[in-house]
Amino acid sequence: MPIRPQPMRVRCPHCHWHTIVAPRSDAIRPREWVTQCPRCGHDDLERTPLPSWQGSLVRLCERWFDVFRAR
Ligand SMILES: [Zn+2]
Repeated sequence: MPIRPQPMRVRCPHCHWHTIVAPRSDAIRPREWVTQCPRCGHDDLERTPLPSWQGSLVRLCERWFDVFRAR
């Protein structure tokens, strides 16, 4: 069984933009993975794995969003 990557907090050390990426599977789609800051274009972003409780919260929110999208 493939292991799902941990949700991560991605932060730009240059302009302090940040986001959370939570890949749904080990096949990561481009939309779910950022390699460059969308605000300033800096491409050396800091990645911090979320603590597991926060990760669970992100998963829960994702499920809610899926419900909304399915309507
Ligand atoms: Zn930036």
